Amino acid sequence: VGGAETVDRARRMKGHGVAGNTRLDWADLMAFKRTFVEDVPEQRERALQQKGIATWHGRARFVSEDTIEVAGEHLRGKNILIAAGAVPAPLPFEGAEHLISSTEFLELNSLPYRIGFVGGGLISLEFAHVAARAGATVTVFHRRRHILPAFDPALADRLADHSRELGIDIRTEADVSRVERRGSHYIVHAAGAEPVIVDLVVHGAGRVPDVADLDLASGGVEASRSGITVNEFLQSTTNPRVYAAGDVASTAGPPLTPVAAMESNVVASNLLKGNHRTADYRGTASVVFTLPPLARVGLDEREAREAGHTFEVVEHDMSGWYVHRRTRDEAAAFRVLIDRQADRVLGAHLLGEGSDELINLFAMAIRFELPASELRHVPFAYPTHASNLPYML
Ligand SMILES: Cc1cc2nc3c(=O)[nH]c(=O)nc-3n(C[C@H](O)[C@H](O)[C@H](O)COP(=O)(O)OP(=O)(O)OC[C@H]3O[C@@H](n4cnc5c(N)ncnc54)[C@H](O)[C@@H]3O)c2cc1C
Repeated sequence: VGGAETVDRARRMKGHGVAGNTRLDWADLMAFKRTFVEDVPEQRERALQQKGIATWHGRARFVSEDTIEVAGEHLRGKNILIAAGAVPAPLPFEGAEHLISSTEFLELNSLPYRIGFVGGGLISLEFAHVAARAGATVTVFHRRRHILPAFDPALADRLADHSRELGIDIRTEADVSRVERRGSHYIVHAAGAEPVIVDLVVHGAGRVPDVADLDLASGGVEASRSGITVNEFLQSTTNPRVYAAGDVASTAGPPLTPVAAMESNVVASNLLKGNHRTADYRGTASVVFTLPPLARVGLDEREAREAGHTFEVVEHDMSGWYVHRRTRDEAAAFRVLIDRQADRVLGAHLLGEGSDELINLFAMAIRFELPASELRHVPFAYPTHASNLPYML
């Protein structure tokens, strides 16, 4: 995304003070990406071992309520933490085996010319924006009306329109029914849309807790479609020896890295000192790293209404605001939900460059219940994206 951002900005500013052509070099970009990830597993394992933590390699599964089997060994625990994460959801249509996962996409050494993404969620949109900047022809198939179901629908629609202007073909209400292989390419069939010929099809149609081969029944551990069922201490409701954290656990937190980290701290503390800590999800921000990014924190309108709040929605297009105009950021808008009586921000939804950072200020405002009327008077450095915040309240 960092590489795509640089190219995107240079292209937007071309003829407005910036000259010359830039392009993404996919092989170089992937080599750069590898420098962030390739040594991590070994380094982490060494760090654990230096702390006296033993490691085993293999797929673990329960053999009884206090014992798991891994790599042919039986390990008995006073407690067991399940932190197995999530995997791409199994897809029901013919030819689903031709789809590659997000992990495989991030390992491509060259970028195919035509790419189809199944599902219009966060992973597809982020990849689609990078691939389009790298020169690929991109089609996104999404079965519902609005892409990015976890985000504000009006801003998601605005992002979809902007993506189309960039040449990304987003097809909504287009449920993929079949992927057919024809030699070296694929034909994606979707209801309500013409078949599309592509060179690669990517799974972006959701992830599910990775519990399929854990043999939870032998461990007496209950799970639903959203993951291991846990109480407020992140302890299994059916086997008190067992805890769960991160994407595999059915909690109120979204499947994000900082949420997994926070939940694992809660579990560690409860394991060492007995159940006393609960997870606090207030002010958890989510970002779709498209170009520009889309971000949210707190409640959306439906959630605020269901929770019985009386609130005002402050909303505006920001593409003409100086902070966005100075980089020709043409898709910039916000919707902020404010309870005037309580003087609190209930939720913030931002589209545009800088949203990925600005959302964190709203996260603090929500978590620490900062008075909206006072936030208006903070003299944020100008012209930063934060300096827009007082005008959003
Ligand atoms: C493409 C993509 C982009 C993302 N981007 C972001 C982002 O920008 N920001 C963000 O906050 N989050 C992002 N996420 C989400 C984030 O990666 C997850 O929320 C986070 O990794 C969850 O951590 P975890 O420890 O619960 O699970 P994981 O990180 O998935 O780790 C679980 C591990 O357990 C292993 N495992 C599973 N089953 C077993 C078993 N039976 N035995 C032994 N080992 C097992 C798995 O192989 C895996 O290594 C992204 C996810 C994807 C797929």
